[in-house]
Amino acid sequence: MRIVVLAGGIGGARFLRGLMSAAPDADITVIGNTGDDIHLFGLKVCPDLDTVMYTLGGGIHEEQGWGRADETFTVKEELAAYGVGPEWFGLGDRDFATHIVRTQMLGAGYPLSAVTEALCARWQPGVRLLPMTDDRVETHVLIDDPEGEGRKAIHFQEYWVRLRASVPAHAVVPVGADQAKPAPGVLEAIADADVVLFPPSNPVVSVGTILAVPGVREAIADAGVPVVGLSPIVGDAPVRGMADKVLAAVGVESTAAAVAKHYGSGLLDGWLVDTVDAGVVEEVEAAGIRCRAIPLMMTDLKATAAMAAEALALAEEVRG
Ligand code: GDP
Ligand code: CA
Repeated sequence: MRIVVLAGGIGGARFLRGLMSAAPDADITVIGNTGDDIHLFGLKVCPDLDTVMYTLGGGIHEEQGWGRADETFTVKEELAAYGVGPEWFGLGDRDFATHIVRTQMLGAGYPLSAVTEALCARWQPGVRLLPMTDDRVETHVLIDDPEGEGRKAIHFQEYWVRLRASVPAHAVVPVGADQAKPAPGVLEAIADADVVLFPPSNPVVSVGTILAVPGVREAIADAGVPVVGLSPIVGDAPVRGMADKVLAAVGVESTAAAVAKHYGSGLLDGWLVDTVDAGVVEEVEAAGIRCRAIPLMMTDLKATAAMAAEALALAEEVRG
C-alpha cells in the first residue's frame, strides 16, 4: 500500500511512528512543511523536516519533541558572547551540524529535495521524506505593531517561539507559496497513492501551508483515493502548542468539527475526532465527511499505532 502523509513537525512525526508500526509493509511518502524554515546565523534551518527526520531516525529529543537527544549548546553560548542572536531559537551543537551540511549543499546548487534525501541517507527514517517545494516559502504572521499604531508581519518562528503566540494573529501568510512549485516527486506520489492522510498536524501553518503550494490541493482532490485526517484539536483546544491562535487568524473555531469543515468535503473523505468530541460526529457527517470518534492521544507507540490503524480502516470504509 502506498500512503502519502502531509506532515508538520511534532504532530506529524509522532503520528508517522504509529503509522509505520500499524502498516510496516506500507510504502510511505511524507510531504513535509517548509513554511517554518528560517535562516539563522547564515544557515538554512528546516524545523519540520528535521523533526520528522530525527524522530523517525532515532535522533530526536523525546520529551521535547524537537531537536537532538544528548544535546549541548556551546556554539549558541559562544555566539551569545559575541552578542549575536537570536537567543530565542534553540539550536544545539549536534543540530548545527545538520544545518551546516544543508546550507553547504544548497550553496553548491543542490535543491532542498536532494539535500533532504542526502541528510536522510544518514538517518534512514524508513519513509521517503520530500519537502513540499524546493522554492523558498516563509510563513509570516500579521500582528499589531508593538511600537506603533499599525500592524506588522513577522516570521512565523518569531511569533511562535519568541512571542509564544501571546498576541493575536490577524493573518497568516505563506509568503512565496503562490509562486512555488511542488518539489520533484510530490505530485507523482499523490497521483500514485492508495490513501492520503493528514496527521494531527497544525491545520493552518503545517498542513495548510503544504496545501497552499499550487497544485497540491488539486492533486489530492483529483487523485480519487480516500483522504483521511485526524484532529489536532481535542476537547476544543489543541493538544499541544497554540493552533487555536492561528486558527482564529483564518476565522476557524478551535473545535474538531470546525477544522474538518475548514478542510472541507471537497478534500477530506474521513475525519477522526477524539472520544471526548463524540458529540460532533453527526455535525461532521452532515458536512459530507465520514467521521468516527476514537482515542486520539499519542501517549505511546501503541496508542498512536491504533490511531493510524483506525485512519486506514476509515479510508477503506470510504473507498466503499
Ligand atoms: P509542529 O510543526 O511541531 O507544530 O507540529 P505539527 O503541526 O505536526 O503538529 C502540531 C499539532 O499536533 C498541534 O496542533 C497539536 O494539537 C497536535 N498534537 C500534538 N500531540 C497530539 C496528540 O497526542 N493527539 C492529537 N490529536 N493531536 C496532537
Ligand atoms: Ca512546524
